[in-house]
Amino acid sequence: MNGSWINVLLSCISIAVGIASGMRRVDSYAGYQVWRVVPSSNDQLKKLVNIGQEAELDFWRQPSTAGSPATFMVRPDQRSLLDTKLNDIGLEDYKIDLSDVQAVIADQMEANANVRKASRSAQRTVSTFDYSVYHPPSEVYEWMNMVVQEYNETATKHQIGVTYEGRPIYALTFKRASTQARPKIFIDALIHCREWITTASVIFMLKEMLTNPKYSHMMEDVDWYFVPMLNVDGYQETWTGDRLWRKTRSTGPSAECVGTDGNRNWDAFWSIVPGSSSDPCSSIYHGPTPASESEVRNLANYVLSFGDGYFDAYISTHSAAQMILYPYIYKENVTSKDDQALHEAAKLMSDAVRAVHGKEYVYGRGSTTIYPASATTTDWTYEVAKIVQSHTYELRDTGEYGHLLPPEQIIPNGEEYLEGIRALKDYVLQNFSG
Ligand SMILES: [Zn+2]
Repeated sequence: MNGSWINVLLSCISIAVGIASGMRRVDSYAGYQVWRVVPSSNDQLKKLVNIGQEAELDFWRQPSTAGSPATFMVRPDQRSLLDTKLNDIGLEDYKIDLSDVQAVIADQMEANANVRKASRSAQRTVSTFDYSVYHPPSEVYEWMNMVVQEYNETATKHQIGVTYEGRPIYALTFKRASTQARPKIFIDALIHCREWITTASVIFMLKEMLTNPKYSHMMEDVDWYFVPMLNVDGYQETWTGDRLWRKTRSTGPSAECVGTDGNRNWDAFWSIVPGSSSDPCSSIYHGPTPASESEVRNLANYVLSFGDGYFDAYISTHSAAQMILYPYIYKENVTSKDDQALHEAAKLMSDAVRAVHGKEYVYGRGSTTIYPASATTTDWTYEVAKIVQSHTYELRDTGEYGHLLPPEQIIPNGEEYLEGIRALKDYVLQNFSG
């Protein structure tokens, strides 16, 4: 038996493992890497998507258009096979964004823990809370309590339900006593729990709206509804177990692979492929039934409890792609009747973001700007809850750190997000008829 024969045998085993293992809990990402490719044609793009499906690649930035980068995480046992496959389709000059994912996680966890430890010794208020680090679920709960205590004239906290594991899910609302009808904007974060920057950005933005005179008009002009931490179970898992967990923590038909992709589980265009998967081990598993996940069901019921079209805008916050995406997302070449108004608002947000630190946010109809995804929050808020200005807002970055965005970028990213949401608020206010 010669060496090359053994290699062939080993790579066959790798293929089998690759297909069977899918997305399971990972204790250590030692040897995992994040790769970046830039498909230059639609043909290459399609081939990359096929490779991704076969190898069940965990895309951090989905393949979108020719010329735009796609990034994905590569397990140690997948490297050699993927290298060959990318060579086969002419994408041999891929770049390695992260050469050792575990090392980046360890560095960031340590730096974050040190700063949090130092800041915890001070008495915490909404103003003095440290927004430059990531906070675990218990501290985000504590922050929400501080907000409602300190701003009790306008702020209320409402429990909209519990997660699969029984943790409370809260909405924070901000309303001024007024006889005049005012626009209403809804914002959620952290349906994908590894996207830590989403919750960090929402709480930073809210602090600015509450404490910075430059942004106090945001509270005066509009009624706000926030769910800053939706997938609390998964978020807890990312702090104490698998840092890159994405899905919920529900146990479904597979004992081996837990969790459903919350952003493929909404009751609108559910289970349409290739925008989701029926494989419980897939990172884009759509769940056993529409809205099977407590997090999705509770949020949907809460939004619908106000009635159709009650909200003027709904932002579902994600990372890391720097994109603003509007309906429809589930299928290519399906245009909504509000395409123009959605495009206008997305452009204003993208322009406002660029003006802060020069970051480019691509915007457009979801299905064509990014690869189709079915049963997403945004298609549901548009199609079922009748909220015209429905957008998926993908925060930093475009792959350099992906879901491991360093804490130093929380505030710059939050400043951009704040300006983007301010631009949306201005647009909604200008077009509000009461
Ligand atoms: Zn996401």
